[in-house]
Amino acid sequence: MEKKIQLSRNDIKSNYSGNDYYDLIIIGAGISGLSTALMWQKNTEGKKTLIIEKNNYPGGYCTAYKKGDYIFETTQLFPDIIEMMEYLGINIKLKRYENDFMRRIVVNGNEVAEYKIPAGVKNFTAYLKATFPQDADRIDSLINYQVSLFSQVRKLKVIPTLKDTLLTPLKAPRVIANLNRTFSGLLDKFKITNPRLREVMETFTSFSGVPSDRASGIYATGAMLSSMTRCFRPYGYFDEFPATMAKLFQDRGGEIKLNSLVEKIIAESGKVTGIKLSDNNIIKADTVITTTDPMVALRKLVGDEHLPSKYIERLKKIVMSTSSINIALGLDDKIDLAAMDLDYPYNVVSTGLGTSEKLFDGFLAGDNAFSDDCFHAAVICPSLTTGAKNTITIRCTPFAINSWMEWRNNDPEKYKAEKERWGDFFINIAEKYFVPGLSKHIVVKDIATPATYSRYSGSPTGSLYDMASIVTQFGPKRLPFKTPVENLYQPKFAHGLYGSMMNGVQMVDMLLDRKFNNGDSLFNPRSK
Ligand SMILES: Cc1cc2nc3c(=O)[nH]c(=O)nc-3n(C[C@H](O)[C@H](O)[C@H](O)COP(=O)(O)OP(=O)(O)OC[C@H]3O[C@@H](n4cnc5c(N)ncnc54)[C@H](O)[C@@H]3O)c2cc1C
Repeated sequence: MEKKIQLSRNDIKSNYSGNDYYDLIIIGAGISGLSTALMWQKNTEGKKTLIIEKNNYPGGYCTAYKKGDYIFETTQLFPDIIEMMEYLGINIKLKRYENDFMRRIVVNGNEVAEYKIPAGVKNFTAYLKATFPQDADRIDSLINYQVSLFSQVRKLKVIPTLKDTLLTPLKAPRVIANLNRTFSGLLDKFKITNPRLREVMETFTSFSGVPSDRASGIYATGAMLSSMTRCFRPYGYFDEFPATMAKLFQDRGGEIKLNSLVEKIIAESGKVTGIKLSDNNIIKADTVITTTDPMVALRKLVGDEHLPSKYIERLKKIVMSTSSINIALGLDDKIDLAAMDLDYPYNVVSTGLGTSEKLFDGFLAGDNAFSDDCFHAAVICPSLTTGAKNTITIRCTPFAINSWMEWRNNDPEKYKAEKERWGDFFINIAEKYFVPGLSKHIVVKDIATPATYSRYSGSPTGSLYDMASIVTQFGPKRLPFKTPVENLYQPKFAHGLYGSMMNGVQMVDMLLDRKFNNGDSLFNPRSK
């Protein structure tokens, strides 16, 4: 029997009491804002806390929506955030992907190679060694090194005392040694030169739209090990996750004001005093946390006049991450998706080595570099888990915002034509490599463009993953949580669901002088 269509996000209503002062205001009810709010609530008492969200639902990028008889979602993969969910009491039913983490197809001309990347580091290592026996020793050395590197990340303090800073080279020498190393630099270090093996390894950087010759080696290692160790998706739709968080926050005394755009972050004499909404209402606060696009938050909502010129120069140099085209398809019930071997967190197809670099260069040039000989796309099949009507999502990254917003606002015909063009392009790819006969079964088609992401998130670049996780913006080189405006914070440790929850952990730890997480870089609360 088909599942009932209902969205949890619609159950969350504003409960703003009309007060004009709060201890803490959080701008944005995405996963970063909601995690910060819940971690804060759990570790403080009697604080008046308000989340302000411009959309009429919580969740930001982590969401689901209805179109016709279908529910579509942004369909993120949940890396290992279980400990944090349990700590906060977020109880939603999750499906764990026990066997394979990814079905991966690489196309080199007429040659099509297929890999099933197993979950779990041991299984992955064994699989790689069996697939590339001539590289077995190098694979062992690389992965052992990566595991050790990641375990040293655990020893880092993100809120360090002087003693911590002095001890870091002793406790985490591999982290220090790799701070400026890219992921391809890491592969080079272990003499991984076999192009077929590199293609498989580079999967872990290209799914956040960054090529391995620019991605931080530490970051990619963390993403690889944390997502393949335990990865999940909800049995329900993706909006259930933020809706459950929002409900917990409200039940525990927090307030949420939906449908409310923050137009100004008010700074007086170098200190934050509150925010101004687009309806001109002012709400005061001792502390303000912004989880929105960092360029907008600082340069537009605060304003350059309140920022030191050095900081403005730093902001100007930041590379925001890429945007995407997402094609959500509702299919008829004649197609048997269950028979097509699609039940993986991601089914990924791309052309061979060098593809991510070319695509990223296209993005940096302000457009995209997709062609018949150069592509990368992920195909996800949510209905295999939700049990609802057949759906397929095709995710295509990287795209730049280019003229998408301009077309959407001023040239609807062109906007529609471009959407259809790219829709057809990627549907063909999905049909060829994963879903035979796909185009014959499409009932509803919904294409999200960089303009869609920009509108929903408030990021002018429609960036999916905040600041790009390139090596020059990693660790100490990333924008710090503390802004130049006193008591205004911007938790931007990392992107993704795991990264966004860690934003909350580290933010609250900073506000509470390490009394919550002991200044640690990973989740390690003092009291469970
Ligand atoms: C299609 C897609 C696929 C993804 N896939 C994955 C994946 O597989 N795995 C993974 O881990 N991550 C994935 N991500 C990334 C992940 O979803 C994001 O990193 C994460 O959800 C970001 O949360 P956030 O709270 O930091 O930001 P956002 O979700 O952008 O939330 C910010 C919130 O602030 C609000 N806001 C903005 N400006 C204002 C303002 N002026 N006033 C009031 N409110 C404002 C916005 O409306 C929004 O709700 C994906 C993202 C997308 C879009």
